Amino acid sequence: MYGKELEMEDFEALMISKEAEGQKLEWRRMALDDLMEGDVTVRVTHTTINYKDGLAITGKSPIIRRYPMIPGIDLAGVVAASTNPDFRPGDRVLATGWGLGESHFGGYAGFARLRGEWLVPLPAGFTTANAMAIGTAGFTAMCSVLALEAHGVTPERGPVLVTGASGGVGGVAIAILSRLGYRVVAATGRMGEREYLEGLGASELIDRAELTGPAKPLWREEWAGAIDTAGGDILANVLSRIKYRGTVAACGLAAGMELATTVAPFILRGVTLAGISSVMAPRELRLEAWARLERDLDLKKLESMTTTRPLRDVQELAEEILAGRVRGRVVLEVAG
Ligand code: NDP
Repeated sequence: MYGKELEMEDFEALMISKEAEGQKLEWRRMALDDLMEGDVTVRVTHTTINYKDGLAITGKSPIIRRYPMIPGIDLAGVVAASTNPDFRPGDRVLATGWGLGESHFGGYAGFARLRGEWLVPLPAGFTTANAMAIGTAGFTAMCSVLALEAHGVTPERGPVLVTGASGGVGGVAIAILSRLGYRVVAATGRMGEREYLEGLGASELIDRAELTGPAKPLWREEWAGAIDTAGGDILANVLSRIKYRGTVAACGLAAGMELATTVAPFILRGVTLAGISSVMAPRELRLEAWARLERDLDLKKLESMTTTRPLRDVQELAEEILAGRVRGRVVLEVAG
């Protein structure tokens, strides 16, 4: 299937296996034949760490559904070999979700082999590093903005709240919304990040402590829409403060899985709770979201929220992202 040169390639991968006492992580040298099935082989140049990658690597949630597994839910790189008519060697591509790093070998390796329909051609305006600065987090932020738009939340309707503002989804959401002309209110547990958040386009900051504790069924109407990465009490409090016929795009659970709310926001204010799920998002939505990211995300702002590290640092970063200490997004460079 491969040319001579590619056949000889060996590459480094992070492999997680299951042992009696828990997960074992090791860096291994692998050959292309060790990869799983697929019709496109990609030389991975960049990957990233999302909150979910942190959960998978530390084993804090059962993200990995088959062992041994190469983690990494996102990857970007160059097609090395393909029997899929839509992709040719040399094409620049990205992939997010679809079970990568969960049930199919993911991005923390020099190469990945996967199904062509999981790949998105890299938008012309992006490098593979830009694509991973965006990653699942940024894609989810864009899907959330698309959901607000689909439910008629326009800048004229009022401000939009973004929770988990200093995180990856939050940062990209703020940058996109402000570029589109929305007044953005950033809810954060890190009030010390004011300069950073205003630089991304936030007009106002609120301390996330204001959104904790049991929610009243209804509270004063403040925001026309919200992108919520927190869940739990925070989402319940957000719902009771959304304006008449507003929409909340719920995409995260950084504060918790539970949702203790009432029907009051829905039946008395016509509020919509729109669910956002990136992993199995259909291909048309992916193509639309990546085209919109290319149009609506300021690359300077993306740069200001991005740190670049070698892939080898990923274990340390996994602990940091779960502790809420990673600001914005991290691009991981893959050495091969
Ligand atoms: P990050 O870790 O980058 O950001 C999460 C942010 O949430 C933190 O930076 C922090 O922001 C805030 N936060 C952390 N802990 C708490 C807490 N206990 N209570 C309230 N807020 C908290 O993660 P991502 O941006 O990558 O992901 C955010 C969430 O979205 C995660 O729950 C993730 O699983 C989910 N997600 C869902 C997807 C989907 O398909 N639905 C796809 C991608 C992500 P600050 O310090 O500013 O308050």
